[in-house]
Amino acid sequence: MKKKISLVVLIILVLVSVLALFACSPITNEIPPLYIVFDGDIEGGVYSINLYDVAMTEYIYTEEGTEVTGDGWELSKLLEYLTMRVSDNYLFITSATDGVSALIELPLTDKMYLYDDGSKVSAKGPNYPKCTGIKNISEITIIAKDSEDILETINSLPNTKPNLITQSDYGIKILTSEKTDLKTFGESKLKLFSLSAENLMGENKANKYLPNNAMTVNSFTGRDNNIIYLENGDIIKNADNIQLGWKHGKIIVKDTKAPILGFVTNTTRTILDAYSEIKISIDNNEKVMLILPDGFSWIQANALENDLDILKASLSKGYASATHRAISPVALASIVTGKSPYITGINFKEGESRAVLKPNAQDIFEYATSKDKIVKYIEGTGNLIITSVEPVYSLNDTEIYNNAKAAINEGIDFIFVHFHEIDDVNHEYGPLSKEAKIKCMEIDSYVKDLKMQFDGKVIIVSDHGHITLVNENDKNYGDHGYFDHQDMYVPYFVFNK
Ligand SMILES: [Zn+2]
Repeated sequence: MKKKISLVVLIILVLVSVLALFACSPITNEIPPLYIVFDGDIEGGVYSINLYDVAMTEYIYTEEGTEVTGDGWELSKLLEYLTMRVSDNYLFITSATDGVSALIELPLTDKMYLYDDGSKVSAKGPNYPKCTGIKNISEITIIAKDSEDILETINSLPNTKPNLITQSDYGIKILTSEKTDLKTFGESKLKLFSLSAENLMGENKANKYLPNNAMTVNSFTGRDNNIIYLENGDIIKNADNIQLGWKHGKIIVKDTKAPILGFVTNTTRTILDAYSEIKISIDNNEKVMLILPDGFSWIQANALENDLDILKASLSKGYASATHRAISPVALASIVTGKSPYITGINFKEGESRAVLKPNAQDIFEYATSKDKIVKYIEGTGNLIITSVEPVYSLNDTEIYNNAKAAINEGIDFIFVHFHEIDDVNHEYGPLSKEAKIKCMEIDSYVKDLKMQFDGKVIIVSDHGHITLVNENDKNYGDHGYFDHQDMYVPYFVFNK
């Protein structure tokens, strides 16, 4: 009896589910989403909008005497939907297939529509020049008529930490050893495209643009000896002739499509070079000592020119650029392996907790040991990364100095000395404070002494610099990791015996 009832229940259940399936099927046949990307000089950088989330309007126009009607999305309504901050602007429409673009001047005097062209987005501007009728649009880039307006707004913000973070949301940074330039994303795209025709229809102006297929890094930055920093943490040196492209609000390396974070200019050297510099000595059976004054910046080496003996800028053969992010574990992993953060895997994002990790590459200590060299790695109170040799720990920089002196006396082949207190003082008072000056002078005297006693090559390289910031009580302090000229350029000294 019980069995029969459950069978009936089961049959009913199956019937109900089959019916439910039929009832549901019209919902699964709903219009598929139709995405369009808005990028450039808009708040937030890049927006991907499903056009079907926005209300459509009907449009009517006459073409060769006949009336045409259709449903589409009014461009000005879409801009409202984006709550665009800049009103008096340009509009730039790009086709996905061939890169042909039309640039329309805003405010829109007549209506421009986007419409569903069989799962593709196309544009219709009945009262605009023909070039605006673009098929298969992949993105719409908003370009400020005067990008100085945007830059001024950003630069007028107080020089606080949030400002430095926000800046990169508005454009691409081009670093020189003296300043950080910012090109807005809109301005960047205009530079990557060139005007091919000017068109007028009544009062409405629209220009046709074509991608500039030969835009190289040096023509983009206007400087020589460029280094590309990719968003994934990789670094491309000697990048002057590399071609650039544009994709969804980002400048990319044309060949690999890799998105670019920014450019460091006027240098061919990065802190990763310390690895091969040490390796040369090991291969030549020459003693070598690397001194790493944590957080010591190029601006300090310059500012303290008259106060320092060894660490002053004029004694160095020049600067090197750090890793991004310019923070100790990321930079240290790259120095000891000669590989970018993309390869080492020690590549922390802003706000990410910093675990103590082993780089995904052989470190210089392992290499030296494999060549039968005796190695000593002198650290502070703990590990920033996991290395192939255990560090000798020290309580403070004075003890680090004493441990380094002992290593020299023992005749060690490769000594790695990591001082920490310049970074500590820079954090507390800022890199240009009198407290930082006193600390730099103290470390300079240690370095001078070690260099004098050591019978081999001495390499001095810092891991990152420091930015002077101001807290809410108007007190200066320092921080790093923002891809700014102040934290990316560091002294790089090589003293051959
Ligand atoms: Zn620090």
